Order: sequence, then C-alpha cells, then structure tokens
Amino acid sequence: MAKTDLRPALSRMLPYTPGEQPPPGKFIKLNTNENPYPPPPAVVSAIRDAASGPLNRYPDPTATAFRRTAASVLGLPGPEWILAGNGSDEILTILVRGFVGEGQKLRLPYPSYILYRTLADIQGAAWEQVPFLDGWHLPTMFGQGEKDLRLVFLPNPNSPSGTIVPVDEVARLAASLPCPLVVDEAYADFATMNCLGLVQKHDNVLVTRTLSKSYGLAGVRFGFLVAQPSLIAKLTNIKDSYNCDYLATIAATAAMSSQDWLADVVAKMNVTRARMQQQLSKIGFDVTPSHANFVWCTHPSGRHQELHQYLKKNQILVRYMDFPDWGDGLRISVGTDDQIDACMMMIKRFFE
Ligand SMILES: *Cc1c(COP(=O)(O)O)cnc(C)c1O
Repeated sequence: MAKTDLRPALSRMLPYTPGEQPPPGKFIKLNTNENPYPPPPAVVSAIRDAASGPLNRYPDPTATAFRRTAASVLGLPGPEWILAGNGSDEILTILVRGFVGEGQKLRLPYPSYILYRTLADIQGAAWEQVPFLDGWHLPTMFGQGEKDLRLVFLPNPNSPSGTIVPVDEVARLAASLPCPLVVDEAYADFATMNCLGLVQKHDNVLVTRTLSKSYGLAGVRFGFLVAQPSLIAKLTNIKDSYNCDYLATIAATAAMSSQDWLADVVAKMNVTRARMQQQLSKIGFDVTPSHANFVWCTHPSGRHQELHQYLKKNQILVRYMDFPDWGDGLRISVGTDDQIDACMMMIKRFFE
C-alpha cells in the first residue's frame, strides 16, 4: 500500500455522478429537478438581514429555530422529532454511518437514487438492489430481510420514475422489515400523499425531506430527518458539530414559514407537469404518470441518447439515464411553461 492510498474498499468504488451544472444562463436546465422559480421572497429578505448578523459566531448546532418552525408547520409534536442537515444528502450519509457497519447490508429499489449505493461503498458496506416489478410495484421480498440487513431506502415518490408506493404498503413494509425503513421524500411536496403520519406509529419509519426541490433552495443546502425523538437524539451525537450554517438555517426557517408560496408554486408546477405528460404522449412517448417535479419517458424508437445530445446542442439540458439490465430513457424536470414549450418544440423537431 502506498503512503497516500485510501482504504482498499474505496479503490473499487464508483463515484456518484451528479447532473451537469453548466454556467448559469446558457441552458434551459431541466436535468436536476431544481425549482425553475426563485425561492420565497421572505427567504431572500431573511438572508439579506442575516448578513449583518453574528457571522463571527458558530451557529446553533441543532438549528433549533428551524426545527421549531418545521415541527409546527408539519404538525409534529415538537422539534425533538427533527434532525437538520446540510442537504438531505448529508442526512442520508448520517443514516448509513449510523446503521450500516462494514460488511453489513443496505437495500434499495432499482432503478432509483444511485447515491444510496455510493454511500454504502464509502462505508465499506454491501448493497442490494431490488428491481421494481412492472408498473413500478415492489416485490414482496422488498419487505423481508435477515439480520445483516441494516437499512432500507425507499425514495417516495421515486426518482427517476416519479411513481409512488401507497402509505399503507409502506406501513406493511416497515412492520415486516428487521431494520429502519428510510422513506426519502425529496419530492413529496409535489405528491398528494406522504408518510410523515407513519413516524409516530412506527419507530423504524424515518422520513427525509429537502428544501432543494419544492422550496427552490438547492443552492443553500438544507434538508432534514423526521423520526422518533430517541433516535433523533442518538443520530445528533454522530453528526458534524456545526453541520448547518447560520445563513442556511435562517433561509430554511423563512422557507418553512412560506407555506402559501409553496402551495402556489407546487400547484403551478403540477399543471405544467400535466401539460408535459400530455404533450410527450402525443409525440409518441411512453410517459410514466408522475407525482414529482419531473417526468420519466421512453420512446419506442429508443433514440434517447441521440435526442439528449440534440437537445443539448440546442441549449436544452435533460437527464439521459441508462440503467444496466433495465433500460434507458429521459428524465425531464418540470420547468416554467416557456421552458417546457421550448423543450417540447425541439423534441417535435427532432422526430420530424
Ligand atoms: C435531490 C434528491 C435528494 C437530495 O437532496 P439535497 O437536500 O439537495 O441533498 C435526496 N434524495 C433524492 C431522491 C433526490 O432526488
């Protein structure tokens, strides 16, 4: 081993590849499920005011102001049900660090969020992908496991499909699994249901949320976990001391207080999503009905990669995804109406 070699487990891992982030302005960006609209006005003024705040001091280590506001908005008994993080990706890291030892196993559905695998690899843990059945249903074995299974991830709505596993099915999974079930609700604000209500009944249901998508704050980095207080206390012990910075915590608190803004933006984006689905079907795509701020579609011609390149040449970025042993397709984020009109026009032109 050379002096600067990393742990052997890390030499074999494939790094997570995030969607492209080109310099602002050049592209219509429909590839990473960001909100096309600016964040709530209250967030911008809160950040401006905070700039003259105590930046020379360390922030509140547990973002108490945010947790109080979020608990009240979400109807939770109190802030002790919430752990705040530097994006929900950090929360996922804390969960893997906390639950899955070297050689132990985590499970994820397939295709879904690839980061779960990367986190397992970094930990030196094993991962098991369980393919969705036709119609994006989960097989019964997704809820079964031996004692080496230490954590199960379920993005709900799922990415890239935008599909949902119903709450009663999630409850059954939680009851039958021997470990925590992490319901990653990054997109739940765009859906008509969520699993927050299960957390008080099931000590192994852990719900993660982010401010990156529905609240338009991907650049700020803030996410959180909802779970029973005894678990939140244990996880707080293993996080970085100051994982949420002062400005981000202020921004996230103002965002949580902007529920009318959220309802308006989500309603507007869901109307755009319906238009996208309709137009893509008309062009001949197979479109998966989505409960998130993106649409997964495949075309019988199979020309997905070519179309992705064509759109990129015309300053439109969508996400091309190829899942080995499963297939490929395009994931297109919900943009503004003008952005979607431009994208649909270009797709039509490609097939002419
Ligand atoms: C975007 C996304 C996240 C990450 O959210 P951040 O808070 O920006 O880290 C987590 N899970 C899924 C499924 C996502 O799509």
